[in-house]
Amino acid sequence: MVESSKMKCLGADCENDAGTLQCPTCLKVGLNDSYFCTQDCFKRNWNQHKTVHKIAQGKTQNGTLHNIIPPSPKVVSKCNEVARFYNPFPSYAFTGSVRPVYPLSPMRTVPKSIPHPDWSVTGIPKAERRLNRSKIDLLDAKGQEAMRKVCRLAREVLDIVAAELKPGITTDYLDEVCHNACVERKSYPSPLNYNHFPKSLCTSPNEVVCHGIPDQRILLDGDILNLDISLYHEGYHADLNETYYVGDRAKTDPDSVRVVETTRECLDMAIALVKPGTPIRDFGAVIEKHAKSRNCTVVATWGGHGINTEFHPPPWIPHYAKNKAVGVCKPGMTFTIEPILALGKSREVYWPDNWTNVTVDGKRTAQFEHTMLVTETGVEVLTARKENSPGGPIPMPATPNDTAKTNGATHA
Ligand SMILES: [Zn+2]
Ligand SMILES: [Zn+2]
Repeated sequence: MVESSKMKCLGADCENDAGTLQCPTCLKVGLNDSYFCTQDCFKRNWNQHKTVHKIAQGKTQNGTLHNIIPPSPKVVSKCNEVARFYNPFPSYAFTGSVRPVYPLSPMRTVPKSIPHPDWSVTGIPKAERRLNRSKIDLLDAKGQEAMRKVCRLAREVLDIVAAELKPGITTDYLDEVCHNACVERKSYPSPLNYNHFPKSLCTSPNEVVCHGIPDQRILLDGDILNLDISLYHEGYHADLNETYYVGDRAKTDPDSVRVVETTRECLDMAIALVKPGTPIRDFGAVIEKHAKSRNCTVVATWGGHGINTEFHPPPWIPHYAKNKAVGVCKPGMTFTIEPILALGKSREVYWPDNWTNVTVDGKRTAQFEHTMLVTETGVEVLTARKENSPGGPIPMPATPNDTAKTNGATHA
């Protein structure tokens, strides 16, 4: 084994001793001695450093392929396992800095003993497409209990995945953690093969609005990342998501904190309205008002939804003001509220994978989601955070303006 503390940081003009941080891409391509002193140094040197990955994968900088797979199949070499990372859409005009990093890992499987929803084989949610969109289900005591159970499991899974978050890991790793945690709970991860979605989890960093596909991209200190988890257990679905700060750097970025914390508050404010008799169209007004007060915009394309034995039954729940959604909250209804706020324009465009949608101006977005039950007197948040859940609200970082104010400085 290599003793990391005796090595030097790989950073171009860095004199420091290496820390314990190893480049995860290097590890994947079989280079076991790429140590950096800090995450910052790693990030600073990334553009230069990443060329070694291409070389390790058999590509020189000018793109010439070398045959690094031994010609004889009898020779077993580590090179056979080398993954060739690439951007699948090299000519696409990306709006921000996030790029897809392929290949995707093979589709994960769920043991046959666990009940599967109808899309698991065909990719098509047939029953859901046949639903009468004007009829909102009310669950009896047994159905409500089943929803409590699957939502409790979904919260457990989200917390397990969120606990793994740190700079240097890939979103594909988070997908693996999510998938295994679902299977351990005898649950099918609802997104898997839903309209042919290839993964068990949606991971949406920075300018990705929602439905990002877990891939080989490495999370960076300073990223914000939404984890959207859905489970199917004993015939019922649960759905929740949260946006997290990756590393400590994002927590000091006023814009990132503004969009994340405002979105968190918008969801809480909408939930506070839920009780029998509240029109579903009312949620959007409070969400948009609060978003605007913080100079954020509401992404109108995506809405909350009913959830029960179906993944996305009626009602559809808009998050913007002056919407015309039909339906009134009644005891026994279960649905999600899941606002998405943006720092810039609320318009989005799709990557060519037809899932990942990003803001048209590349600015960041955040989303939060709960599944809830309307009770006789109010609401029960079935996916509520627990005392020890990772993440949670943080204060706005001090801005230079604040410092000036506390110092008694005046502005002309
Ligand atoms: Zn969700
Ligand atoms: Zn949802």
